[in-house]
Amino acid sequence: MKTTFRPRLLNGQTGDPALLLSLRWQGRALLVDLGRIDRTPAAVLLPIEAVFVSHAHMDHFMGFDQLLRLLLARDATLRLYGPEGIADRVAGKLAGYTWNLTDEYGFTIEVTEIAAREMQSVRFAARRRFAREPLGPPRPFDGVVVADPVFTVEAVPLDHKIVSMAYAVRERTHLNVRADALADSGLRPGPWLNALKDAIRRGAPEDTPIEVTPGARRPLAALRDELLTVTPGQKVAYVVDVLFSPANAAAIARLAAGADLFFCEAPFLEEDLEQATRRYHLTARQAGALARAARVRRLQVFHFSPRYEGRYGAILAEAEAEFTGLDMRYAELEPGGAALP
Ligand SMILES: [Zn+2]
Ligand SMILES: [Zn+2]
Repeated sequence: MKTTFRPRLLNGQTGDPALLLSLRWQGRALLVDLGRIDRTPAAVLLPIEAVFVSHAHMDHFMGFDQLLRLLLARDATLRLYGPEGIADRVAGKLAGYTWNLTDEYGFTIEVTEIAAREMQSVRFAARRRFAREPLGPPRPFDGVVVADPVFTVEAVPLDHKIVSMAYAVRERTHLNVRADALADSGLRPGPWLNALKDAIRRGAPEDTPIEVTPGARRPLAALRDELLTVTPGQKVAYVVDVLFSPANAAAIARLAAGADLFFCEAPFLEEDLEQATRRYHLTARQAGALARAARVRRLQVFHFSPRYEGRYGAILAEAEAEFTGLDMRYAELEPGGAALP
């Protein structure tokens, strides 16, 4: 299957968190977390149109200045999402520079704060010297922060002594019309094909009538099976800097459920469990258990503590042993999140 997203940890498994998701053939990219990005070529970063920040600890947010520097002279809008308080963090960054010569710049940052039940956006425009401006009333938050024609982004707040936001990026289902089948069916192409695709994407019932010619209707399922190829979209989940608690584990199992690729922090080895817990972080083994509970297809651990330099293989092995069930220490964390700790 050809996938739309090409994921890449800009600083590898051991550096600051920054996950680039390039959208193939579209010249677009998303960035999840904003650790240092100064070693990444500009050409790789320029397609970034939205950034999803987990929290504003320095290792997740210090790349903001570098991205701003790169995009400043561009006539573009960067959308930035994060937990409550992220607009203050952005304002604080912007207040660190002088903006008396940017009146003719078209660059704008739109910041959206994700709270428990609503999202609120503000704007910082270069031509207004990055003064903070309200951007409409709060919108209800039901788990989805972005609904793009190509993908959706879901978010869930987790406990890291502060909120650390986890994200899942889900490509929408691919629906392609098989030209040969359409010709064989004797039906003529028209707007009804889009109505059919929309109904399938909405999850409409199988017997939903679709009007194929004026007055003539056929059930959704029959048209789908005869005329379309349906390819499920790819799902990438991202979790960093969280405590291994029942509430976090349940939320992560739901968010990452069935993900094709699960990026999960694994800063500590299980031998340092006490320290991991004290610092509201996961061990590699816990990352593996969460991946197993969420039934993900592939686990990619990262955000290793430099204390393990020379032993990174042990982190990978520990996470994988727990994930595959080869050597399980968190057996109570059932797949599907049935019996969480
Ligand atoms: Zn943190
Ligand atoms: Zn961190």
